Amino acid sequence: MADFSKHKFGTKAIHAGADADPSTGAIMTPIFQTSTYVQELPGKNKGYGYARGKNPTREALQKNIAALENGKHCICFSSGMGATDAVMKLLRPGDEVITGDDLYGGSYRMFTKIFANYGIKFHFINLSDANNIKKYVNANTKLIWAETPTNPTMQIIDIEACSAIAKENKILLAVDNTFASPYLQNPLALGADIVMHSVTKYLGGHSDVVMGALIVNDDKLQEQLYFILNSCGANPGPMDCFLVMRGIKTLHLRMERHCFNGKKIAEYLKTHPKIEKIYWPGFTDHPNHAIAKKQMRDFGGMISIVLKDKSIDNTFKLAGSFKVFSLAESLGGVESLINHPATMTHASIPKEEREKAGVVDNLLRLSVGVEDVEDLIEDLKQALG
Ligand SMILES: *Cc1c(COP(=O)(O)O)cnc(C)c1O
Repeated sequence: MADFSKHKFGTKAIHAGADADPSTGAIMTPIFQTSTYVQELPGKNKGYGYARGKNPTREALQKNIAALENGKHCICFSSGMGATDAVMKLLRPGDEVITGDDLYGGSYRMFTKIFANYGIKFHFINLSDANNIKKYVNANTKLIWAETPTNPTMQIIDIEACSAIAKENKILLAVDNTFASPYLQNPLALGADIVMHSVTKYLGGHSDVVMGALIVNDDKLQEQLYFILNSCGANPGPMDCFLVMRGIKTLHLRMERHCFNGKKIAEYLKTHPKIEKIYWPGFTDHPNHAIAKKQMRDFGGMISIVLKDKSIDNTFKLAGSFKVFSLAESLGGVESLINHPATMTHASIPKEEREKAGVVDNLLRLSVGVEDVEDLIEDLKQALG
């Protein structure tokens, strides 16, 4: 296996894990569409027994994603939620988790509706001041689960500050790095123990695969998480692994364009008369801009806007009037999407808590794609007009 650990990001994205196939020389990693592997004698095999546990296409992708996060190990799952589920299964009844109050709706649903029933206690707090964490730490605290930038209000959480508190108290720190992608932010280098990706988003990048990944440096943690994957079965299929590897080959190019378009659009929307508030960490007056600058390579293409008009009907009408942006859940693909978090991605959060976190009925979230930015701005202009 060729070593690309010393190379730069784009070279890693294209080459890490992607050695030519030894049996044919095929430059693309083959799709090993198989459930089992023939054994010479019972237990004597080529390192592969059954495909829930191991698949060569998946292994190639895992090496690639690990390289992008400068991590030692990566384990891929059938979805981002499958990956999150595996992290939660490290815990025992009585354990406590400290997490953010502005969280991906599906994570909130899993924590409150599934794992709370297994005796795990969750504290949903404002993590943008890491000192808040200290008030909730006790002997049962086992995990901090942070998401940054947050979804959809784009708060930035100081990963190094969270890590310092986690280390002092022997708590694991997991970071959902989906919004930033490994191109913009590498939490392991900032002290996180686990990085989670919804690979569905920027890593896959083409809105054609659902997948998740965990990246860790610690061998014991890797062993535990792999045991959970193999025992519980949220493994991704080889065809999907192939598609994601193909998608990642252009991650750096896509991210550059997402960031470029995102900046142009954020600047255009900032002074628009119909917009009350705009959330994008690249503005120097964003409350956590300094932290974003410190821990991110650029500011990304995720932007949320709050309309001056509070009417949900008018917000719906606007959301339905785009010609280039598509109204859809998800993010991080090449095509621009618009989403109404209150009724779409965040509908599983009770209205009162949702609004406390700023997810009001007149908020819309944009995932800025890689189209020509002039066309995107034109589309915003006509929809808002
Ligand atoms: C989409 C998403 C998830 C869930 O991932 P799936 O692949 O949809 O299961 C988790 N966190 C964030 C921030 C997301 O955007």
